[in-house]
Amino acid sequence: MSATDPAIPTPEFDVIVTGSGIGGLVTATQLAAKGAKVLVLEKYLIPGGSAGYFEREGYRFDVGASMIFGFGKQGTTNLLTRALEGVNMSLDTIADPVQIHYHLAAGLELKVHRDYEKFLQELTAHFPHERKGIRRFYEECWQVFTALNTMDLLSLEEPRYLLRVFFQHPLACLRLVKYLPQNAGDIARRYIKDPQLLQFIDLECYCWSVVPAERTPMINAGMVFSDRHYGGINYPRGGVGQIAQKLVEGLVKAGGKILYKARVTKILVHGGKAVGVQLANGKEYRGKRIVSNATRWDTFAQLLPPETIPTKEKKWQGRYQKSPSFFSLHMGVEGKVFPPGTDCHHILLEDWQKMEETEGTIFVSIPTLLDPDLAPAGYHIVHSFTPSWIEDWKGLSPQEYEEKKEDAAGRLIARLEKIFPGLDAGLDYLECGTPRTHRRFLGRSDGTYGPIPSRKLPGLLGMPFNRTAIPGLYCVGDSTFPGQGLNAVAFSGFACSHRIAVDLGLH
Ligand SMILES: Cc1cc2nc3c(=O)[nH]c(=O)nc-3n(C[C@H](O)[C@H](O)[C@H](O)COP(=O)(O)OP(=O)(O)OC[C@H]3O[C@@H](n4cnc5c(N)ncnc54)[C@H](O)[C@@H]3O)c2cc1C
Repeated sequence: MSATDPAIPTPEFDVIVTGSGIGGLVTATQLAAKGAKVLVLEKYLIPGGSAGYFEREGYRFDVGASMIFGFGKQGTTNLLTRALEGVNMSLDTIADPVQIHYHLAAGLELKVHRDYEKFLQELTAHFPHERKGIRRFYEECWQVFTALNTMDLLSLEEPRYLLRVFFQHPLACLRLVKYLPQNAGDIARRYIKDPQLLQFIDLECYCWSVVPAERTPMINAGMVFSDRHYGGINYPRGGVGQIAQKLVEGLVKAGGKILYKARVTKILVHGGKAVGVQLANGKEYRGKRIVSNATRWDTFAQLLPPETIPTKEKKWQGRYQKSPSFFSLHMGVEGKVFPPGTDCHHILLEDWQKMEETEGTIFVSIPTLLDPDLAPAGYHIVHSFTPSWIEDWKGLSPQEYEEKKEDAAGRLIARLEKIFPGLDAGLDYLECGTPRTHRRFLGRSDGTYGPIPSRKLPGLLGMPFNRTAIPGLYCVGDSTFPGQGLNAVAFSGFACSHRIAVDLGLH
């Protein structure tokens, strides 16, 4: 059968997007703004996926992301600002003066200030013998960022766009081509020799790429290490969930449609081409183009028959593996635990050797230090999480599961007491999330944070773009180029919508 077979109903939609994560919503809004008839199907009750939220007893918690890039006011890399503007929306954001306050082994305390020179001064004060190397490494990151920040970021699978960008910005393009196959660790090692400083660069990468610098693509490092000082880290007033809410509002105003509690169980394929989707309730929808915002593992094992997985996907799964998930604590805490001057984002690592281990590195976000309205007066929301594998949470009885959660929470809180004395006593609310919670509520295979290279790869060259081996089926989100993070998946959404718009002849 082919898609034009009389037995196959005519598509009611130009584009059907499975999932309303930020990648899916940017794709949907961009296409709706171009006049496409778009349907988004979301299995959960609200949009946002890992950028969603939940409310308990007067607290509004971010489920995942809370250190937000992409809300800058200038350049081209401010993709969240641009995505909202694409459907005439905007968000009030609050500038964060410090990206991360690191609490490290041997009492090393370091802050990444929004002010670039202040950050370099602070780092150099700890490693004065590496003054030149530090500056040269971070300056090389700026080279990548400046090149990206001059051009429209669209689909690298679209030859006419590539040609146009090349003629408009030949030097920037050549620079990016140079960095595309490189990793941050190789460049850091070119300039820096101090082993502890190299460990710090590893952690600087690990805290968003979940791999050390030698496996972190330089393109991503260039973005993160520069944009934090350029557009800065900005927290959306009302919580991270606002981003998805506003995108949905814009989508609907632009004529698009979204359905919640709509779990896609099957991507329908006829004549080798993706033509629609089927929901858990049996309802089918037809579209000219089908987009999956589920992870690639879920897309090619759950939504399509696993035995027909394309060779290209098998190869990708050989190059990339699932990163661990997280064990998360969502806490409501008395205000007195956080003295004036406390920063919003913290990382705690007491032993460098444990950086990549289960429960090694601890991440903490306290967004109410920026937006107090997310908690009852006098209290804060605190989200703390640490890597954890699903295997460790399988095969437990309900009682064992509860006990294991309690033990893990106790260990985390005991460690956090060192940087926030009185945390335990100041707890007003506590809820734990495990890799099982992430799998269930975020709809992500094994609750994974996303793909990580299974060995050292040539930079970003191995990350797939949006088209798949199945005609008519596209993937978007963190298992496509350029990877994890809200601004990165927004990039993937711009690229996906651009490629589909060209394929559908929309302008
Ligand atoms: C604990 C944690 C902390 C993080 N911190 C940060 C941070 O500080 N800054 C940052 O930039 N990034 C952070 N991230 C990463 C960032 O949140 C993700 O990379 C990003 O949100 C992923 O977006 P996505 O578009 O790939 O889709 P996802 O967020 O994975 O959303 C996919 C959506 O698809 C839906 N879905 C899946 N399958 C189906 C189906 N079959 N039918 C219907 N719907 C389906 C899901 O319910 C979900 O809503 C964090 C992530 C986590 C988990």
